[in-house]
Amino acid sequence: MAVSELTHAADLGDGGRSGLWSRVKPPIFRGNPYLRIVVVMALIWLYRANITAGRAEKNLFNNWMLYSIIVVGFYFVFGLSGQFAFSQAAMFGLGAYASNWATHNPSHTWILGPLTAIVLCSIVAFVFSLIMQRTAHFYFAVGTLALSEIILQVVKKSNGFTHGTGGESLGIRPIELFGTKFNDYWKNFQVLAIVLAVVLVIGTFLERSPVRREAIANRDNEKVSRTLGLPVLRIKVGMFIFGSAIAGLAGSLFAHSSSSITPEDFTVDLGLAVFLMLILGGMGSIWGAVLGAWFYVYVRNWIQKSGIVIADHKLSEYWNLIYGALLIIVMIVVPDGILGVAAKGRRLLLRGPLKTASPPNWLAVMLGLRKIPVLPGAETAPPYTGPAPVKRPTIDRTVTPILDAQNMGVSFGGVKAVQDVSLSLYPGEILGLIGPNGSGKSTFVNAVTGVVSASGTLHIDGQRVSLGKPAAVRAAGVMRTYQTPQTYLHLTCIENVLLSTPHRSLTGIGAASVVRPLSLSAEKVRWNEAAEALDRFGLLAKAEEPASSLSYGQQRLLELARTIAGKPRVILLDEPSAGLNAAETEELGAHLHRMRAEGISLFLIDHKIDFITDVVDR
Ligand code: ADP
Ligand code: MG
Repeated sequence: MAVSELTHAADLGDGGRSGLWSRVKPPIFRGNPYLRIVVVMALIWLYRANITAGRAEKNLFNNWMLYSIIVVGFYFVFGLSGQFAFSQAAMFGLGAYASNWATHNPSHTWILGPLTAIVLCSIVAFVFSLIMQRTAHFYFAVGTLALSEIILQVVKKSNGFTHGTGGESLGIRPIELFGTKFNDYWKNFQVLAIVLAVVLVIGTFLERSPVRREAIANRDNEKVSRTLGLPVLRIKVGMFIFGSAIAGLAGSLFAHSSSSITPEDFTVDLGLAVFLMLILGGMGSIWGAVLGAWFYVYVRNWIQKSGIVIADHKLSEYWNLIYGALLIIVMIVVPDGILGVAAKGRRLLLRGPLKTASPPNWLAVMLGLRKIPVLPGAETAPPYTGPAPVKRPTIDRTVTPILDAQNMGVSFGGVKAVQDVSLSLYPGEILGLIGPNGSGKSTFVNAVTGVVSASGTLHIDGQRVSLGKPAAVRAAGVMRTYQTPQTYLHLTCIENVLLSTPHRSLTGIGAASVVRPLSLSAEKVRWNEAAEALDRFGLLAKAEEPASSLSYGQQRLLELARTIAGKPRVILLDEPSAGLNAAETEELGAHLHRMRAEGISLFLIDHKIDFITDVVDR
């Protein structure tokens, strides 16, 4: 839908000329992060050009660039999509060996090296990711540790691949582009800095695309993501491949700029260090990666050079201890890292109008170190008086039901939570369900939407849909809301709504970076629709605030807005009035009637008897 078609834009009090679009112009169309990349990289370049100190100093600088590339890749794997991958160092190593292998024959062009590194790391990451698709968090982490070990062992044993014994490859040829050999620190720096800049630009493309919000949604609640229709596996695997490929590319540059490599360069220690770098720098931003890499390289060097001796041991011997301790301290005290502290400091200094605080760091929340405050629901409720009377359509119950669940059953171990439940919802109908707590109502909704495994048969508009597959149910046009609102607190309100869009074309990593103009115009259409959905539930003004800033009642409305934006044919609502006061409950009733008037069939579970009897047909 084009902007001009938004006929009610005039109602928004902006004169109507510029429409909804200008009021909620998405951040991805605002500001200029590319300029920042240019400025920072130019400063880095200038600074490096003036380093006249010895080789060690120059080597250190190149290491900073190299680690920055690796950690930027890791930002996408871990910072955004929450995958505990300790394999980044091993991918770095695999890339290094692959590149040496591909360019060992001097008649081969050098560019084959980095290309082979990228392709091989992508393939390994893809296969590994598919094998590990059912694991998450710590199980995934253990898997990546194993992968790292396997890669290192294979490297140590495959003399044909490494062109050396025990994984030690010597005399690796230098980087060679456009007929020039890049065989000194300064020239290597140039290549590293340019690759870092390119990685930052592509990274920024992804940051300013649907990829970011979908990765975060996946990270924060995979189950809900599935019921919204997000391609959960594609997002996870895609991010892991992306990060691993970047590590492989860095490995290639490392091999050809240092001329010799050994497996010691790529141990799990480095895999852990990559975590430290990102967390220390600040995992909320791509720049945290660059800052963390700087800190790691230079502080470590400073410790090594300082002559400090503690208990007969040089300070440098404590390095592992120091960074282990740092990791723990940073997680507990400043989970947003150096950049997070800087952002807070700036906010305090400028004393500008404090924007609504964003919720605490996701990892800190996951580890139980921080809590997202729960905003109270309305408690002192005036009595419910019921919605204004509406004209009820007559429901034809001789046609094929839009949703037909027969003999549904769910058991948890020995507990039969749902047994032999059959139910038909007809087109245009509002069907209610009441029952005491624990009687299996929510479990029934879970069964229908595929988030628990169930027995029985399910037909949607006459088509058989298999059970236990949230994506299939979603694709058939059935969406739901949750007993406790399931919004993504680390995303803004409008991002929450955008997640459910049925227009999923050009939302992937490839589209965001390769056919960017096309993907941006698709995004414009989505934003307009999402803004409309928010507006309908009175939340447009909150569009760019984090969902965590909403009250309980508003979270419910946000969930409804997200559901409507998904253009469903059927909505299953699990106690939508819980926690709402009387006025909000009345408003909810009006919303439900409007949805029905638009042709959506509703299945409603509720505890407020007067509310549910006012709303439902049956
Ligand atoms: P209602 O929504 O009607 O209050 P529920 O569907 O939430 O009831 O719960 C039905 C029964 O199933 C309860 O006895 C509950 O303890 C049990 N139950 C629900 N979910 C699970 C689960 N994931 N694992 C084990 N038991 C569950
Ligand atoms: Mg329930």
